[in-house]
Amino acid sequence: MKPPPFEYIRPSTVAEAVTAMAQSEEPRILAGGQSLMAMMNLRYVFPATLVDINDLHDLVGIDAARDRIRIGAMTRQRRIEVDPDIAALAPIFPAALRHVGHRQTRNRGTIGGSLCHLDPAAELAALVLLMDATLEVTGPAGTREVAASDFVVGYMTPGIAPEEIVTAISFAPWAAGHGSSFQEYSRRHGDFAIASAGVMLETDPEGTITRASICIGGLGSTPQRHPEGEAALVGTRGEADGIATALDACDALECIADFHGGPAYRMNVARTMLRRALSEARSGMNNGRGQA
Ligand SMILES: Cc1cc2nc3c(=O)[nH]c(=O)nc-3n(C[C@H](O)[C@H](O)[C@H](O)COP(=O)(O)OP(=O)(O)OC[C@H]3O[C@@H](n4cnc5c(N)ncnc54)[C@H](O)[C@@H]3O)c2cc1C
Repeated sequence: MKPPPFEYIRPSTVAEAVTAMAQSEEPRILAGGQSLMAMMNLRYVFPATLVDINDLHDLVGIDAARDRIRIGAMTRQRRIEVDPDIAALAPIFPAALRHVGHRQTRNRGTIGGSLCHLDPAAELAALVLLMDATLEVTGPAGTREVAASDFVVGYMTPGIAPEEIVTAISFAPWAAGHGSSFQEYSRRHGDFAIASAGVMLETDPEGTITRASICIGGLGSTPQRHPEGEAALVGTRGEADGIATALDACDALECIADFHGGPAYRMNVARTMLRRALSEARSGMNNGRGQA
């Protein structure tokens, strides 16, 4: 199928893009096109104007400073996957990105596009929640920062105004030696996950968990942080009973059903992914900063 007719604008600055978004009828940003073009061809969405931001080179790049990593919204997923600074400071990113579609889609797909598309199983949306990231957003009223928890508001619905553009994502890397893992299950390689689990852990020198972050993807209408699971782990050494409590507490999370299976099946997959992720994160406690 072909998309319905649309106007095409290709601005060369963020200011021009914002103006185009504000002045056009039913506009949509075109980033990597890996989701948008398919949705237009299938006629799920009917933008009257496409604002192509592929010439906004200021939105491309990774600035991995010691205390904060900043990734431009138009940075391709594959570039993040292979970046040596990201691998050293936030190894959960390449671990998760390997599950995002195929290398061909990651060569075109951008981090900003994935976040704004906001599929419930999107690995990058899970990661920004997991890392308590901040999104930089520019619109007619200027630039503002949006916490990931305020951005991921509903099913494929980012918490920004239709005319706003995500320009960058930033987050603080966890301490050197932290443990992390990203596990997911999909029917075929490259498919969206039925469920995924991302885990970050920090311990004190005695091995007691001092900080935990868990995000479950695919289970609900958005990726979900799992605060009860995190609380069950902090203060423990990751013993079996703490893990069992964290797994049981998944019952508190939203769980949807679809053609892949009912809620019991999806929850079972999510628990299995979480168990594996907790196990790998604990055993890889030195896979953080300084270890690459
Ligand atoms: C075969 C296949 C398999 C895939 N598997 C997965 C998978 O397993 N996991 C996964 O997460 N994704 C998967 N995807 C989707 C892929 O990751 C897309 O790249 C991503 O969803 C969208 O990124 P994009 O840059 O292509 O954005 P586009 O498709 O260009 O845009 C997506 C949406 O975001 C909006 N948008 C884009 N950039 C911005 C911005 N900076 N500010 C505001 N709005 C913006 C667009 O208007 C549009 O609504 C798959 C895609 C394909 C084709």
